[in-house]
Amino acid sequence: MPVRIALDLDGVLTDSMGRWVEIWNSKYGRARLSVEDIREWDFWRGLGITQETFNEVFDEVWRTWPLLRPMEEDIGEKVSRLASLGRVDIVSGRSSRHLPYVKSWLKQHGVRYNSIFLAVSPKSRLSHDVFIDDSPVEAVQIAGTARYVLLRDQPWNRGIPNSKYILRVKSLDEAFEKLAGEVFPGTLP
Ligand SMILES: [Mg+2]
Repeated sequence: MPVRIALDLDGVLTDSMGRWVEIWNSKYGRARLSVEDIREWDFWRGLGITQETFNEVFDEVWRTWPLLRPMEEDIGEKVSRLASLGRVDIVSGRSSRHLPYVKSWLKQHGVRYNSIFLAVSPKSRLSHDVFIDDSPVEAVQIAGTARYVLLRDQPWNRGIPNSKYILRVKSLDEAFEKLAGEVFPGTLP
């Protein structure tokens, strides 16, 4: 059985918060924000807005997907490198309504994958062997099931220390090195 890798979308492949902040600042910007200001997973509470408003802005992030930047250059090649280690599925909590936008974005950036799972919550209910994610909430839950999370470094997850099952990475190439060297040493081609 090939290793099954669950690869997150927002904050791992796409700079969704960079775009969220752009829209926020142009439309609502009472308090001008930068991505580095986002220190909590539920940071929107600190803006005094409802989760509904947060989600409305997020809807626009994906509706206007051509403006959504990848987190890294050559992201498609980096995902293909991961796919040399096993099966890569895109796994996201994003609403299924966004599927056409998500597919278009992935195609535009040359990201190839086996399957897409949207509206997944919590991700720990899936049977994947390893997760690449930026959510501190998902990371702790997945680690609680004795599976590895490569935690994509972001300002909102820096409160999570490395632990047996949570390894912080700053890029997909670093995730590749950790997978091949630490998580599944000697078992991969
Ligand atoms: Mg994410």
